[in-house]
Amino acid sequence: MLTRTEGIVLQTREYIEADLIVTYLTPARGIIKSFAKSPRKTRSRFGSSLEPLTHAKISLWGREQSMPRITQSDIISSFHKLREDFQDFVNISKLSEILISLTPEGLPNSKLFSFFLNIITFLASVEQKQKDALYLVFQISLLALLGYAPHLKSCGKCGEESRDFYPEAGTALCKRCSSSRQRGNEPSIRISNRTAHFYSHGIGWPIKASTRLRPSRETVSELSALLEAHITNLLNKKLQTSEFLSKV
Ligand SMILES: [Zn+2]
Repeated sequence: MLTRTEGIVLQTREYIEADLIVTYLTPARGIIKSFAKSPRKTRSRFGSSLEPLTHAKISLWGREQSMPRITQSDIISSFHKLREDFQDFVNISKLSEILISLTPEGLPNSKLFSFFLNIITFLASVEQKQKDALYLVFQISLLALLGYAPHLKSCGKCGEESRDFYPEAGTALCKRCSSSRQRGNEPSIRISNRTAHFYSHGIGWPIKASTRLRPSRETVSELSALLEAHITNLLNKKLQTSEFLSKV
C-alpha cells in the first residue's frame, strides 16, 4: 500500500547499522514510524529531508501492520534554524518526546498536526529571549490537547479550593481528599496564586498571541518543576530530554 501524505520528522534513530527509523507526525495517520534503508546511501538520496523537524511531502510503502518504507521525501520547510540552535532543538525535542510518549501510533489527528506545525513555524519567527515562557506555554497546550493537562484550579475530586498539587493524582487535592487516598506521605507541590493564574490563562491561549503572556521567572521555574513531576508520573520515568538537560 502506498501512502502519500505530509509529515514532520519528530525523531530519527539509526537501527542496526543499515536502517534509519524515522518517526513522523502526519495529519492523516498521526504518529507513524517508518524506515529508510542504509542511511549513508539514503542521505544522498533524500538529502537533508529526513533530519528532525523537517516538514516534507512523503510517500511510504508497505503492508498494513508493518513498518512502511520511505520511498520519497520532498522538503516543504526544513526548519534548519531551529534544529541548529541548541536551546531550540532541545526544547522542541522535549515536546516531540512528550507527543510520542503519550500518543498511540496510527491514530489520525489533524488538529495535533496543525498545532505542532503552527508552533514550530511560530518559534522560527520570534526572538530568543521570549522563548522560555513560550516553551512552557506550548508544553501546557500540548498536554491539554492530548488530554493530559494537570488540574490545578481546585481539588480535582470535590472542587474545593486547593493549592496543593499531587503529581501521582495529576491534580490538586484538598486536605480531606488527599488524606482519604491512604497513600501515606504522598508528596505534593505547593502552587502559588500567580502560577495558578498564569496556568489557567495559558491553557487554550492562541499560539500567535503567546508572546503577550509574560510570566515571571518564579512562575516559569515553579511551573516547569510541576510539569516535570507530572510528566514523570504519567510516563513512570523521566523524559530522556530532561535527563540529558540535567547533565549539561
Ligand atoms: Zn477535595
